[in-house]
Order: sequence, then structure tokens, then C-alpha cells
Amino acid sequence: MTFIDFIILGTLYILFTIIIYLIVNTINKHSIKKNNKIIEHIENINKNYKSLFYFLDTNYTFEFECNSLQKYKNNNNDNSIFNYLCNIVNENSNQWQNLITIINQNKNIYQKYMTNISTIQKQYSGLGYQKNKYIFLSKKKYLKIEDSLCQKVILKPPITIKITITIFYISPAGRNRYFTNYICNEKIVIEALKKLEEKKKYEQTKEYQRLILTPKKRYEILKRDNFKCQICGRIQADGVKLEVDHIIPISKGGKTVDENLRTLCHDCNIGKSDKLE
Ligand SMILES: [Zn+2]
Repeated sequence: MTFIDFIILGTLYILFTIIIYLIVNTINKHSIKKNNKIIEHIENINKNYKSLFYFLDTNYTFEFECNSLQKYKNNNNDNSIFNYLCNIVNENSNQWQNLITIINQNKNIYQKYMTNISTIQKQYSGLGYQKNKYIFLSKKKYLKIEDSLCQKVILKPPITIKITITIFYISPAGRNRYFTNYICNEKIVIEALKKLEEKKKYEQTKEYQRLILTPKKRYEILKRDNFKCQICGRIQADGVKLEVDHIIPISKGGKTVDENLRTLCHDCNIGKSDKLE
């Protein structure tokens, strides 16, 4: 026998073994699946649970493009990524809140579902094993195949969110590419929603309402009112000091919005004080 013959025979032998192994495996798998109590029970449980779960895609990808290498370097950290995600969540906070609710519901139901499944598994696992029915199959191998068959029928509703944020910068000529992937789950969304809620609460405070009456805002209101006191009609040339007044005072829950702002001279303003007219 030449060396070549040896190689050919060896290869054929290996191929033959693999084919036999695959055939035996398929036959065994088929026999295990057939009339298997455990799979039958799981499928019955599935009937009750299938409609309770929300099946939806919970993978999200976002791309955070930087227009300079410096910006990329400055923002390539957890804190910036979190702020970036906050903006995304802010754009559609209701939708994200709904998603979190769905995920939590799925989680709760899934826990009960899996308790049922594991009870069944404990009760029926391996019961279908009868040595004579299978070809070269140890109980250990049987259990392994049975378990993998169970895994295939066990429902897998989404109970978590996967968010991939890619921060990247591409140099003008496209010669250099920099990117980093950040992978996070629903926890970061919950945190972003919480931060958003706090921000909204803060925006309702008196402190914030005073803060946003900026010099720019004051000027806009003065200009809108033609630099004229809205009560007595005097202008700066008449020797009065013009001020911007909250019609409903901030102390009474008034907001810093155009409809609630007007130009008054100092005399009219102090005459009014915080009283509602
Ligand atoms: Zn006046």
C-alpha cells in the first residue's frame, strides 16, 4: 500500500465514520422526539403562554457620528454615551416607557413560565429512556439530546433590551476610521427616563422659571411690546425704566412664556408687585 493509498483509505474511513455517526444521531433524535412526554408537556404549556408574551425585536443600534477627532475623543466615554442616549430617549420617551413596561411584563410572566417548565423537566426528564429503542445511546447522551430538543421548544420572549451605540469619526479623506461600540441594556434606558423625569420636574420649579428669563428673552419681550409700558404707555425717552414683568407672578405659578410676559415701567411694576390683576 502506497502512502497515497493510505491517505485515501484514511479519509474514506473518517468520512464513513462521520456519516454513520450522523445517521445514528438523526435516528436517535427522531426516536427521542417521538412520543416524548416532556416535549409534549412543554408544548401544552406553550399554548397557554404564547399569547401572554409580547414578541418584538428589542435590538437597537444607534450611530453617533463625530465631525472631528477631538469630538470623538471627548465623547468616547460612558458619560457622553449616556447623555447621547438620553437625547434619543427624550425624543420619544413614551415609546421607550412602553418598551420598558413590556419587557417587565414579559419578565414577570417568563418567571412563572419557567417555573412550570422546570417542574415538568424534573418530573419527566429521562423517563423516555429505554435502552433497546436507541442505537448506541447512553443515558447521559440521551439526556443531553432531550435537553437540546426541549431548548428548541421552550419559548424565548424578549426579557431584555440590547442597545448598541457606535461612536465614530471618519477623517475627511476617509483614510482613518475610528469607532467604538458601546453595548447596554434596559437599565440605561430606565436611568435615562428617570433623569428625564427629574429634569421635567426641575423645569416646573420657580428657580428654573426665574433662570430662563435671560437678557435675550427680556430684549425679545421689550421689542415685541415696542419698548413701551403696557399699562401707562410711557417709553424710555419719558424717563422711565422699562422692566419685563410676569403677568401671573412666578410665586403664583406663572411661567416664563411669551404669553405671560409683558413690558412695564418700574413705577407700574412696583405698583403691581406680586398681586394678580
Ligand atoms: Zn407704566
